[in-house]
Amino acid sequence: MTLPDPKLLANIRVVLTRTSHPGNIGAAARAMKTMGLSQLYLVDPAIFPNSQADAMASGATDLLAQTRVCATLAEALADTTLALGVSARRRDIVAEVLTPPEASARLLADAQTAPVALVFGNETSGLSNEELSLCQGLVTIPANPDYSSLNLAAAVQVLCYEVRQAWLGRGSWPQPEMDAASGDEVEKFYAHLETALAELEFLNPGSPGKLMLKLRRLFARTRLAKEEVNILRGILTAAQEAKAAARQTGTAAHNS
Ligand code: SAH
Repeated sequence: MTLPDPKLLANIRVVLTRTSHPGNIGAAARAMKTMGLSQLYLVDPAIFPNSQADAMASGATDLLAQTRVCATLAEALADTTLALGVSARRRDIVAEVLTPPEASARLLADAQTAPVALVFGNETSGLSNEELSLCQGLVTIPANPDYSSLNLAAAVQVLCYEVRQAWLGRGSWPQPEMDAASGDEVEKFYAHLETALAELEFLNPGSPGKLMLKLRRLFARTRLAKEEVNILRGILTAAQEAKAAARQTGTAAHNS
């Protein structure tokens, strides 16, 4: 039997944020390798590298050896065009909630053209709202409602299994219709938006409230294309320039 294109699995990364137990990192690497995934990213792990991680990885220590350790989730997602947060809890911060098979189909379609990510949370606290705000969707494993929290590595296993089944099940995926913006491009846009809103005095940097989180949720629902990010940033720059010009005129009038 010929297998589908392995490049698709190579473009799907597993990101573990703030993992407490190194054994879970090793077990996650093993779970990934059994399903043909290889790209493991760690964000600010408590302990890594570590002998417990190696022991739990068993024959998957090669994945640990090439694991990327990042300081922030934004760094781990900088070149991805799609990041799905994996969480047992429904949150209102991300609009769309997908089942594991739906998430797998989405990831595989996008993985044809760019890296994509599944983001897992800390063992005790799960994914923070800030971490979820960097994701464009949420995946929930439909577990026993009375006891729905899987061990971290077990959750990684379930998602990697679903990705593999979807990958095995069909040879071709619809091409993404647009040139999606990368995580880095989208983060730069949010930073620009925040600065511009402060300059326009729409946002008070002293008490920003949840405005930026709400705007992130709005844009996460749309999946921004590269071109759309450029247009939005052009509008922001024009508004900033108009505000600066009005301020100058005001100062000139005041001084005359
Ligand atoms: N107490 C935490 C659970 C953390 S379990 C919480 O309430 O969020 C560690 C990680 O495993 C989670 O952050 C999530 O990524 C994953 N996980 C565990 N159970 C899950 C489920 N039923 N659906 C989706 N992800 C799950």
